[in-house]
Amino acid sequence: MVSRWTQQLLDEATALMSAHRYRSALERLLVVFDVYPDLPEARQLASALIYAGARTTSEAAPDEQLGTRQLFDTRLNAVFCACEAPGCGVSWVSAHHLLDGHRGGAMISNPMGGCCEDCGVTLCKRHARSAGHGLDCPRCGRQLDHAPAPNGRRQSAQTERLNKRLVHVIVLVEGKKPPSAEFMTGLCESVMPDVFEGSPRITGNHYRKFTADEGRTEAVFHAGAMESAYLTDDYDLRIYPGKQAGRRGRRWVIAKVFENRPKHIDPEHPSAGP
Ligand SMILES: [Zn+2]
Ligand SMILES: [Zn+2]
Repeated sequence: MVSRWTQQLLDEATALMSAHRYRSALERLLVVFDVYPDLPEARQLASALIYAGARTTSEAAPDEQLGTRQLFDTRLNAVFCACEAPGCGVSWVSAHHLLDGHRGGAMISNPMGGCCEDCGVTLCKRHARSAGHGLDCPRCGRQLDHAPAPNGRRQSAQTERLNKRLVHVIVLVEGKKPPSAEFMTGLCESVMPDVFEGSPRITGNHYRKFTADEGRTEAVFHAGAMESAYLTDDYDLRIYPGKQAGRRGRRWVIAKVFENRPKHIDPEHPSAGP
């Protein structure tokens, strides 16, 4: 049984989706995921929303379309199918939830990928074998299920979001020079677009040479030096190391500082949450 608070958000999302207001609909669902990350009703609706939103962008106003910033939100990982070919990072949302109850015989035109029921492997279009009727399994030759259940995306370029308010983001880059404004903006856009939703403090700094743990130690030290309370239970400190693309790309490490209490609460079940 979903609570009334949850049902209202699901209903709003459904209505917004019918009006092609995809981004607003997704915002409602993300509030539900903040409190109930595994709720099947929300997953089903998110799946239908992304499937529709990605295919009928032209019907939505530009500020209601779903782009990479929305789609790579880690809270949506579970609704995505992900290719299991080694090194492949392709993920997509299948028509699985749209076809619930009336599967079998449903034709999916131009599927993004599929799943082999014999081998139990999910593959994108490029790693499957294309045949006249769609896609076949490259291992056993069986026709793939073109609307498989999501196997879950394991990787996203974006850092994790929590059901907690983001108050400060500290970026450390390795080297002699501090990060440029351009670098900081690019990093926020691709890796932590949640900074554009709230208004966290943003600090950029540099560190000559990271130690063996990819700069994690330096990031924690830096956060504690800026505000000693960040290392207490009042805050939740998360560290994400990474690297700029290319051979000469600089290494960076991000410290996301969250307030250590829930941002969204279901008033009927105040203690519910991940
Ligand atoms: Zn197979
Ligand atoms: Zn692939």
